[in-house]
Amino acid sequence: MMVRGLAKRGFEESLGRYVLPSLCMGCAACVTVCPAECLKYVDERPILSGECISCGICSSVCPRYGSPAREMEKAFFGRERITGEEFGIYRRVVVARTKNDDIRRVCQDGGVVTSLLLYAFEEGIIDGAIVSDRDEESPLKAYPKLAESAEEIIRSAGTRYTYSPNILLLKDAVAQGKRSIGFVGTPCQIQAIRKIQAIHLRKYGEIVNFTIGIFCGGCFSYNGLVNELIRKKMGIDPKDVEKVNIKGELIVKILNKGTKTISLKEAKKYLSGCVSNCMDFSAELADISAGGLGLEGWTLTILRSEKGEDLFDEAVSKGLLETKSVSKDSNLWRLLVRISRRKRRGFV
Ligand SMILES: Cc1cc2nc3c(=O)[nH]c(=O)nc-3n(C[C@H](O)[C@H](O)[C@H](O)COP(=O)(O)OP(=O)(O)OC[C@H]3O[C@@H](n4cnc5c(N)ncnc54)[C@H](O)[C@@H]3O)c2cc1C
Repeated sequence: MMVRGLAKRGFEESLGRYVLPSLCMGCAACVTVCPAECLKYVDERPILSGECISCGICSSVCPRYGSPAREMEKAFFGRERITGEEFGIYRRVVVARTKNDDIRRVCQDGGVVTSLLLYAFEEGIIDGAIVSDRDEESPLKAYPKLAESAEEIIRSAGTRYTYSPNILLLKDAVAQGKRSIGFVGTPCQIQAIRKIQAIHLRKYGEIVNFTIGIFCGGCFSYNGLVNELIRKKMGIDPKDVEKVNIKGELIVKILNKGTKTISLKEAKKYLSGCVSNCMDFSAELADISAGGLGLEGWTLTILRSEKGEDLFDEAVSKGLLETKSVSKDSNLWRLLVRISRRKRRGFV
């Protein structure tokens, strides 16, 4: 996979000047790959903390700097999208759900993401998965996790709607000698992984066996979601929250007390700024993309690459997932197209 190279510029002349002021979403790809280790991740942003050697690697992997989306797409899939591929290149679109009760109890939608990771781990296809886990103290806070057992993979299921810089853990995975990992991330994180692979940063790029991108209508800041929206606006003690989901509105399931909802229009006021700079709703560069899209207990699954399709089909043939097809004239398909178009135009 090759994309156009960028001029070698130091962090301050590239990302510091053009991305940090308003485009950075805090994916941490630059911090992870910096060979001089002169970047630190502080308050969800990279900061220069040592001597920059102006190698240009940080800007080469940044999803907000250089390399237009179409060029990346061509580099990864070997072709550009054709008319009608509104949500990116794909081989098949299906709706699926897990048959594993342990996953069903904790997953966000149909548990497809966790089922595929678990299958790949148990078959020895991967020796770890980079996911996002919940903090024991503040369960709504997402933080990156290198899951190294079936229990850890299952524990990481479910969505935290705050930002989780999963790419940071590529470094841990390399340090621990992992050879093959499954990577789960938001569309911006999948873009960064593809850039890492495109510039042949083998140390990090080659250990990623497959990527599962999750649809993203935007992330909340932790304070915005937990203190401003859930505590103040909805009057719920965050400690009592069992699950947050978005299905046409934001739904908060409260322990033993039913649910409370708030309109998406209201909830979106608390989104972090990253969403206004992102044009990718459905993780268009992932091997497999997954989202809930208003479905109850099912995951809309886009099989994009041959590798992603094979992995999914193997899991289905082993009886781990049940599936339903999605026709192009269904409301679900139309919704996916509509949201993808809106996000490309800068709306959420
Ligand atoms: C910030 C955010 C916004 C989203 N917005 C939408 C949306 O607008 N529309 C839509 O249809 N779907 C959206 N999703 C995706 C949806 O919530 C589910 O992740 C998806 O449907 C897969 O469901 P599942 O049951 O198959 O996944 P599960 O089996 O429950 O697995 C979920 C996976 O996502 C990982 N994960 C959880 N939180 C994060 C995080 N913050 N960052 C990175 N990885 C994480 C988990 O570790 C786990 O591996 C969003 C997800 C996130 C994280």
